Amino acid sequence: MTFNNILTGWFSKNKRDLPWRNNASPYSIWLSEILLQQTRVAQGTPYYYRFIEKFPTLSDLAKAKEDEVLKLWQGLGYYSRARNMLRCAQYIQNNLKGKFPEEYAELVKLPGIGPYTAAAIASMAFNKKVPAIDGNVYRVISRYLGIAIPVNTPPGKKAIEESLSVLFITDKPGDLNQAMMELGAMVCTPKKPACLECPLNQSCIAFDKKLTTELPRKLAKKAAENRYLIRFCIEKDGKIALYQRDTSSIWAGLYDFPGLELNNEKEWNTYVRQNSAELNGTVLTWDKAPATFVHLLSHRKLNVHIIRCRAEKDKSFPWKYYSEEDLEKTPMTRLVTRYLQLNPFS
Ligand code: SF4
Repeated sequence: MTFNNILTGWFSKNKRDLPWRNNASPYSIWLSEILLQQTRVAQGTPYYYRFIEKFPTLSDLAKAKEDEVLKLWQGLGYYSRARNMLRCAQYIQNNLKGKFPEEYAELVKLPGIGPYTAAAIASMAFNKKVPAIDGNVYRVISRYLGIAIPVNTPPGKKAIEESLSVLFITDKPGDLNQAMMELGAMVCTPKKPACLECPLNQSCIAFDKKLTTELPRKLAKKAAENRYLIRFCIEKDGKIALYQRDTSSIWAGLYDFPGLELNNEKEWNTYVRQNSAELNGTVLTWDKAPATFVHLLSHRKLNVHIIRCRAEKDKSFPWKYYSEEDLEKTPMTRLVTRYLQLNPFS
């Protein structure tokens, strides 16, 4: 049996019943792939249902306001992906008569659609023979073929892609792509792969040579850079102050506490020991001891003291005050939602 037959045969018997598999429209495939770049299937499925319920078709999504999309996306991080998702829907609706292109080369030009997502849509929705290579597939192929070049380097990626272009012989490319991803998610997992249950174990080099713990190789990432932030939860008449982040921020469009950044840990810790400070001409007086959060981004570690305070001579700039009810419709940064879960409105 060939690689293709083994995997697609295994997939037809073992695939999980996922909501987007019942409706192989390009819209549902695209939506699920964008969401699953952010999170695992178990966490991503409720988001998928929420998006499909609110925006059942691409044209519904294209008409959405950015705040609505960001609010539904809240908690997933990488908000630029949510904004690109909306731009992509609007582009297809306005320029392509509401229809996704069928070819990989056209799909990959759309906002927010990279090589992996373009290949997933082309193969699953339009039966185009393009391998869709995500982290699961890099791992499976590195182990199966015993490729020891680090998979997070350009030569490692190239070696996997070239090998896969030889293996990828199929008339059901969508099934083969999903089978490779499913095997990586369910059997050939990062730690403790279940090789004895794996349909590829008769021909897998890593299994044969006992290299499953060594492959795939990865080059160590650089340590995350520490940043030291102060945020103010300014409370007035049962409302709190927030402002909308501008386009220069990774949280563009989301609502955040006002604040500032300090140069180092010593300055950051010294700052909160005072009882008041001035921000944009407004005097803020501390009401409570600060709450401290660590927020990890891909290359940065944000250390944040959040200070509950009240404003004197409040110039209300650049923030506005929001009630608890207002926040139900307001897309907020993860820091704000985490803080308010632990320190609700008083
Ligand atoms: S035999 Fe083991 S290492 Fe090889 S593909 Fe299967 S699960 Fe992965």
